Amino acid sequence: MKRKIALIGTGFVGSSYAFAVLNQGLANELVLIDINKKKAEGDAMDLNHASPFGSRICVRAGDYEDCHDADLVVITAGANQKPGETRLDLVSKNAKIFQTIVAEVMKSGFDGLFLVATNPVDILSFLTMKYSGFPAHRVIGSGTILDTARFRYLLGEAYQVNPQNVHAYIIGEHGDTELPVWSHAYIGTRPVSDYLKEGKGPDKEQLDQLFTQVRDAAYQIIDLKGATYYAIAMGLVRLTQAIFRDENAILTVSTLLKGEYGLKDICLGVPAVINRSGVREVIELNLTEEERKKLHHSAHTLTRQLQSLK
Ligand code: NAD
Repeated sequence: MKRKIALIGTGFVGSSYAFAVLNQGLANELVLIDINKKKAEGDAMDLNHASPFGSRICVRAGDYEDCHDADLVVITAGANQKPGETRLDLVSKNAKIFQTIVAEVMKSGFDGLFLVATNPVDILSFLTMKYSGFPAHRVIGSGTILDTARFRYLLGEAYQVNPQNVHAYIIGEHGDTELPVWSHAYIGTRPVSDYLKEGKGPDKEQLDQLFTQVRDAAYQIIDLKGATYYAIAMGLVRLTQAIFRDENAILTVSTLLKGEYGLKDICLGVPAVINRSGVREVIELNLTEEERKKLHHSAHTLTRQLQSLK
């Protein structure tokens, strides 16, 4: 089966994703598109030189017309956060860039799925849907997939279990107003609330600190090394697998809400079923009143940002 990916933006995030796609043999063709053509060409050469070590993917630098028969267009192009900047600070710069990029992709006759990682990812997923005219299920934002991974990693460390056996979600904005869904956080088969009642593992204050670490992880990494890219690249790979293998996997992505959680006309991170057609459906968690309020606050923050753009 043909699996062609057009990757737009071969910076830190894009090139890490390309490397991970190559490593896992997830596509037969990977086209790299960047405003900096030399970077895309250099990456294509470098990645192709790995083929004697096992990769059978054709990688090349290309242009927007190469999107016409792509199954997946992954967008990681645009400005990234500078130290002290929030993700929402990037909005007007990246909204303009996306207007051009999505128009160029659509001009090619592209008829696949969009996967968006550029920040602020919730706003840009919404704009990709608007600019492309695609139905909501064909635009997937990486949403809180990375935050959820950070959450599971830290919970795994705290309870000394494999993070793959931690079932817990971060939802809402991929940014400062995101929230942990403690009411549905499980270590294997047992709710975190059971451990709290029994006085086993971290106490309430330590769990609150753990969430703060999740929420502020990007600021910390950006202070340390200027950008974050490996974990989001793996998150994008996980989404690519779920799409190409038609997995019906439940992952926290940014998708349009149409009344779920009492919200609509906004994209934000929620668990959803992902398969070859994109977002099959949003999973509606039974939130506590406090969690619901926080989710609505997150949605209103994003709605205000969208309105300020208009
Ligand atoms: P980067 O600066 O290393 O790379 C951006 C790339 O985009 C560059 O190669 C640049 O030449 C290219 N580009 C810029 N304008 C373009 C245009 N008009 N057309 C084509 N290419 C263009 O940045 P990065 O660290 O790779 O981050 C990329 C984006 O991903 C940022 O917005 C960042 O905030 C975001 N990000 C998202 C997550 C997430 O969880 N969703 C995590 C980390 C980073």
